[in-house]
Amino acid sequence: MRQEESVNYMIPFNIPPYIGTEEEKIGEAIAARKISGDGVFTKKCNKLLEQLTGAKQVLLTTSCTHALEMGAILADIQQGDEVIMPSYTFCSTADAFVMRGARIVFVDVRPDTMNIDEKLIEEAITPQTKAIAPVHYAGVGCEMDTIMDIAQRHGLAVIEDDAQGLMSRYKGKPLGTFGTLGCISFHETKNYSMGEGGALLINDEDFTERAEIVREKGTDRSKYYRGEVDKYRWVDFGSSYLPSELNAAYLYAQLEQAEMINDDRLASWNRYYERLKALEDKGVIELPFVPEGCVHNAHMFYIKTKDQEERERLIDFLKKNDVHAVFHYVPLHSAPAGLKYGRFHGEDRFTTKESERLLRLPMYYGLTESNLEHICDTVKEFYKQ
Ligand SMILES: *Cc1c(COP(=O)(O)O)cnc(C)c1O
Repeated sequence: MRQEESVNYMIPFNIPPYIGTEEEKIGEAIAARKISGDGVFTKKCNKLLEQLTGAKQVLLTTSCTHALEMGAILADIQQGDEVIMPSYTFCSTADAFVMRGARIVFVDVRPDTMNIDEKLIEEAITPQTKAIAPVHYAGVGCEMDTIMDIAQRHGLAVIEDDAQGLMSRYKGKPLGTFGTLGCISFHETKNYSMGEGGALLINDEDFTERAEIVREKGTDRSKYYRGEVDKYRWVDFGSSYLPSELNAAYLYAQLEQAEMINDDRLASWNRYYERLKALEDKGVIELPFVPEGCVHNAHMFYIKTKDQEERERLIDFLKKNDVHAVFHYVPLHSAPAGLKYGRFHGEDRFTTKESERLLRLPMYYGLTESNLEHICDTVKEFYKQ
């Protein structure tokens, strides 16, 4: 079943993914009289995510923000440590490390992918640097060969913010499986959802035991459930990072159909690209760039306008024509908390300038061809004026 859209109202920017089998799964969770965490559906999601990504272990979490927090704890980030990341990202990437007392060192992005410029990372390293947190913007992979090489030579942890990247690959390998840890989001704005939720991908077996403990309030309850200890105890510090079975059941319905959802999104993405290519060829707008070796998941479709002023006018024009388009990420280094907890290393050549030009068009599972056609026609109409 495809989700229904009406042509009479504003074409929304996002509709949370829904395929129609979610209620049935949630009903099963209720019938099983197990709605707290780590029941059948959480375990099924973990297993499926392990199969989809090839990560050694996957643990469902309450959000990607929380998966990142777990990552910061597991990487043993301490007061005064530095973590390198792009400034063009969601605040959660930085929050997780700031909460452990780290300072954030922002590095410029590449204008073609809006990912961290891998060539600028090495010069931002100081004796305090502890980790690199690359963000796979729009589900398009960062230059992971270079980033992993730098991390290995300097003994740094890599925690991938893969919030947007499930089903994407870099040189054949799923995103989120290059670093020590990877963090996925299942927020309602992402390709697969459970309302609020996420997952931690653990790629280094040294972290599997502590990850389970940190996720379960600092207890060895997971071992107890497996019968490995006869009672569970408080063994470390931690928090409650496990989601309810009701949310896991909703997600499981979608993960079972991961390919179908991915194909639907890719079809929309490709249609956008074909319809708007002529405008790019004329030099009027820019379209997203997917480097060779990267397979993406159509998480978003964005265009770049000439400048901020043109972007505002285009957003207004789309709105008048019943299309809700948005922009995002005021660069973190210029935000109040960014000024307080971080610094920008080197020159901001592209982060601010490119972020001001970027406009996201509606993109969700079930976007109809007729709506997509209308959106593209409206963009073309705008540039005819
Ligand atoms: C969505 C998103 C997050 C946060 O995910 P939540 O599950 O809402 O915590 C973090 N980083 C990036 C890049 C995101 O897109």
